[in-house]
Amino acid sequence: MIDFSAFQGKKAAYYTLGCKLNFSETSTFGKMLADMGVMTAQKGETADLCLINTCSVTDVADHKCRQAINRMVRNNPGAFVVVTGCYAQLEPERISNIEGVDLVLGSNEKANLVQFLSEKWAAGETRETHLHEHYSVKTKDIKTFAPSCSRGNRTRFFLKVQDGCDYFCTYCTIPFARGFSRNPTIDSLVEQAREAAAEGGREIVLTGVNIGDFGKTTGESFLNLVKRLDEVEGIERFRISSLEPDLASDELIDYCAHSRAFMPHFHIPLQSGSDTVLKLMHRHYDTQLFADKIRRIKTVMPEAFIGVDVMVGCRGETPECFEETYSFLKSLDVTQLHVFPYSERPGTAALKIDYKVDEITKKERSSRLLALSDAKTQDFYSRHIGQKAKVLFEKAPRGKAMHGFTENYIRVELPPAEAKPEYDNKIIEVCLGDFNHDKTSLMGII
Ligand code: SF4
Repeated sequence: MIDFSAFQGKKAAYYTLGCKLNFSETSTFGKMLADMGVMTAQKGETADLCLINTCSVTDVADHKCRQAINRMVRNNPGAFVVVTGCYAQLEPERISNIEGVDLVLGSNEKANLVQFLSEKWAAGETRETHLHEHYSVKTKDIKTFAPSCSRGNRTRFFLKVQDGCDYFCTYCTIPFARGFSRNPTIDSLVEQAREAAAEGGREIVLTGVNIGDFGKTTGESFLNLVKRLDEVEGIERFRISSLEPDLASDELIDYCAHSRAFMPHFHIPLQSGSDTVLKLMHRHYDTQLFADKIRRIKTVMPEAFIGVDVMVGCRGETPECFEETYSFLKSLDVTQLHVFPYSERPGTAALKIDYKVDEITKKERSSRLLALSDAKTQDFYSRHIGQKAKVLFEKAPRGKAMHGFTENYIRVELPPAEAKPEYDNKIIEVCLGDFNHDKTSLMGII
């Protein structure tokens, strides 16, 4: 477990060269360290930590980086000096050999920085005792985006459109593990979607860590990705796996409402319905914004299925906060809750919050929300009984019931007597009957 008490009162100086992405990455580092108690050194103050975010767009840029590093080392004697960014990734050896540089860091290796600092500071090393040993970590090519378009079944593909996250919610370790937000080009994703269609895929689910953040790497936008994918012939359905509420723009919601193939199906993480807890979590919205987004979706797509992630029992969630969450969710026109009990993660800023929720209370809160979820889902399904719907059926063994989903994600069961092999991977119009035996689907009537 990382001891953040050693971080308190330390000062950091930042220097950034290059593009907007670098500036935003430096501020992400700054925010992460501030969350751990490291303040930004003011003019004239000597820093305990110097972080230089480099650029390598030209030789001149490289030269400027070396100058900046030397200057920071000179002006902050004894500070831990960390170099990151493009030049650091391209020439880690050369940079680690610069006098005074302690650590060369890939931009998704923030966890290494935290580890490094905690070891140094917890061991009592200060600017005065620090002797500029080299702790150079060789960077791998961490900005690469590993493309992925995997097949779920014959019908459905999962297309990874984005990786990493810049948000640093206090309970989450994903940014440490996966790095900053990055994405491939729209052109390459359209090509992968075409290939999926050529292989017989009918539905593509867009996946990523923080999908709405798509475009930072390439200067494109998620809305434009959606528009281009909507034109891919052969793919009849797209679903967006999860979208942060602050990134679910009204333009995107309105586009989906009129698009050819983007389904009326959303998954929006709320995490807490208490503004106090949302602040503790460092989420980027409040309950008002969340409620506005749900209203917007339901106004332009009244039949949309909306799934919502909720975390229960996180640090700081008092009984009053949980009751606020419960009432807020009850008031929302959403379809299903995905309930996750909070678990402590080493290295996360949430561990600094004193108020803890015991395991029994977490279980009670989970059960209440799961019951609320069941009631909402059944109500949503019930409202569709007797309506016609288009279902994309998936292959089933002969003599067994076939299953598929409507456009708005209602699971439909076709009894064995009605199931036909030719329905596999086809969109068939059915009439929606009553619930099946375990209430997980509506029965389809051809
Ligand atoms: S919870 Fe989601 S948005 Fe927040 S830091 Fe983790 S991956 Fe990013």
